[in-house]
Amino acid sequence: MNVYDSARMADVLAPLGYASSDALDDADMVILNTCHIREKASEKVYSELGRLRHLKASRTALGAGMVIAVAGCVAQAEGEEILRRAPHVDIVLGPQTYHRLPEMVARATRAADGAGVLDTEFPGSNKFDHLPGESAPQGISAFLSVQEGCDKFCTFCVVPYTRGAEFSRPVDQILVEAGRVVDQGAREITLLGQNVNAYHGVEKNGRVIGLGQLIRQLSKIEDLVRLRYTTSHPHDMEAELIAAHGEVDELMPYLHLPVQSGSDRVLAAMNRGHTVETYRDTIAALRQARPGIALSSDFIVGFPGETDADFEATLELVRDIEFAQAYSFKYNIRPGTPAGTLEDQVSEPVKEARLAILQDVLQEQQNAFNEATVGQTVPVLFEREGRHADQLVGRTPYNQAVHAVAPGVDLGILANVRIDSCLTHSLGGVLTDSAKSALNRPAVEVAERLGV
Ligand code: SAH
Ligand code: SF4
Repeated sequence: MNVYDSARMADVLAPLGYASSDALDDADMVILNTCHIREKASEKVYSELGRLRHLKASRTALGAGMVIAVAGCVAQAEGEEILRRAPHVDIVLGPQTYHRLPEMVARATRAADGAGVLDTEFPGSNKFDHLPGESAPQGISAFLSVQEGCDKFCTFCVVPYTRGAEFSRPVDQILVEAGRVVDQGAREITLLGQNVNAYHGVEKNGRVIGLGQLIRQLSKIEDLVRLRYTTSHPHDMEAELIAAHGEVDELMPYLHLPVQSGSDRVLAAMNRGHTVETYRDTIAALRQARPGIALSSDFIVGFPGETDADFEATLELVRDIEFAQAYSFKYNIRPGTPAGTLEDQVSEPVKEARLAILQDVLQEQQNAFNEATVGQTVPVLFEREGRHADQLVGRTPYNQAVHAVAPGVDLGILANVRIDSCLTHSLGGVLTDSAKSALNRPAVEVAERLGV
């Protein structure tokens, strides 16, 4: 979502004459769009700000100057503290106020005393109503925020405090934005939300629809060939959404559904609102609706009070489900969250040992999943040029990167590729037939080979 937000900030600033640049040294303005989910991400902000202080000083010496802004969730959580620790920062803004950037830039550049501008409130009206109708093209694969915020209050998580309450954008606004990004060349859209499947948006006629219905409507947009969504919560996998997986060809057979732990005791302490059994049932229903669907997840090891037996239960769940991909983390105390004050914190060495064991199992599963595609023919959506002549890079329905020699094939084309190699971070393959004959749905034998 930070990638999406950053692009929208650039759109907001475009009328002022700003354009995105990769050259930090030459930038008139630098925005750090930050993440507060774990301590490591937050810490990076201060080291980056240290680097920028020198850059700003040398540009100022040349009479050029540099506006420095800190945006995102660290800004939301530590606004005043940032201005105190890094007085060279001009603007601090939260994730819900970036539509007001032009006004903040004006105030910051006018401020004779160099005092920083702070805007981290949760405004009454939402930013989406104020964002420009224009946006810079995002390429073949685009992001689109449909939902923001979270009311779930998992005991380890800062998101409800930094992103605020759950909010769903109205259906029409989303359809217009989706239409625009497809007109600009996007062929795949990933719908975004902290809890994207909690989506409940209102249609023009006043009816409220869930994510499954929204996906059905979006799938009718001509030239939009693929849809994905992230991140979803197991508790909100409604029947209608599961059914959409079976019925909407544009919806990719790949789902990130974080479970965090395989122990009911830990899930309850985390306030996740689901059990291991209901998670398993949801996966079974998804697999029934869409044979061949692959899954990815997030895990936290070493949540306060997690015992060896709890951790074993997580490993058991992982072995049973078989994930195509996963992210796993050591539990990290976040300021202001209930789990941070629990007394039975797990020691660092134990967390490390558990993480290593879990990551070994997950890595093995990921390798097996990728290797199983070798010899198979899969539809690939080409999204950029590769490093070699005539080479294009695209993605399979399972989001695996594929390099293929594809002379005469345009970006944005869906083509059948026979996978012949599996490298660490990507697959390699050759085009099998005319691009136009490709279907999104992978051949049945792929699903069979993958054992699902
Ligand atoms: N809304 C999503 C998750 C968003 S946060 C969900 O409910 O599943 C992304 C991931 O960061 C989480 O799934 C979790 O695995 C990890 N995470 C969040 N807070 C954490 C913490 N305090 N320590 C370690 N990992 C954390
Ligand atoms: Fe955080 Fe996700 Fe839980 Fe919300 S549902 S509190 S975003 S982990």
